[in-house]
Amino acid sequence: MQHNSVWLTPQYGSSYSSSLWVCKEILKVRDLAAFFLKVELGNGKNDLFWYDRWSSMGNLLTLLGPKVFIDLGIGETSTLRDFFLTHRRRRHRYPILNRVEYEIDQAKARYQPNAEDSYLWRVKENDYKRSFNTRTTRDLVRNSSPKVPWTKGIWFTHHCPKFGFIAWLALLDRLSTGDRTHHWNANLSTVCVLCNHQLETCCHLFFSCPYSKQYTIYGLWREGNERRHRGNSKPTSKLVKDIDKGIINQFSAIHLQGDSRYEEGLQLWFASRPKT
Ligand SMILES: [Zn+2]
Repeated sequence: MQHNSVWLTPQYGSSYSSSLWVCKEILKVRDLAAFFLKVELGNGKNDLFWYDRWSSMGNLLTLLGPKVFIDLGIGETSTLRDFFLTHRRRRHRYPILNRVEYEIDQAKARYQPNAEDSYLWRVKENDYKRSFNTRTTRDLVRNSSPKVPWTKGIWFTHHCPKFGFIAWLALLDRLSTGDRTHHWNANLSTVCVLCNHQLETCCHLFFSCPYSKQYTIYGLWREGNERRHRGNSKPTSKLVKDIDKGIINQFSAIHLQGDSRYEEGLQLWFASRPKT
């Protein structure tokens, strides 16, 4: 990194000195990271006046633009320590620059020449902590939607990820069923691969296909894919056996993990199996 600072290294162009993939990836999310970082001022040795968030005005370069380098007489690479040693307060024509002078006064009051600077990470709108937290960061960057009523039916404790994922896509009608793949490629068949009779839609596959009455969503989807892509089809009895085995294994795994809340579930499963 040029100047030993992630803020001063150009993302593109010939002056970019590192070809390391990881450096390029860091530079891509630099602006996003700036939103999360805040300086807790010590000696100001590592804080760049224009780039680091050391005041309540945030990143001053983004706010004011590069023309103010001259108005304020502060170079692009000035650190807060360098700046504090030479700066003399002035009055400016533009109110916003007088506000910057006020923020400088506030920062000087916090300045601790014998302490190191430290960086805080945003965890809420106006709350910063010393440690990074993946979950709170994810919640702040994503566009969250209201919780859907079926959340617990898919993402419950001990859910099996492969089952949950297919059921989740099915609920959102995002599985590549015949009605949808036809829009991408008109040569693909739209007929249900299980009954070979009706248009394959998500609704047909899981609720009205004569073949589907006995099976789980995941088992059906896997069988459909086997037929569609590999031309293999399992006898019904084998499919039922596999699903039965999968459910019993899942209950056993939960039991082995020491969670006894689902003991009745296994009993219910055994009781509801068709007698052979
Ligand atoms: Zn069908």
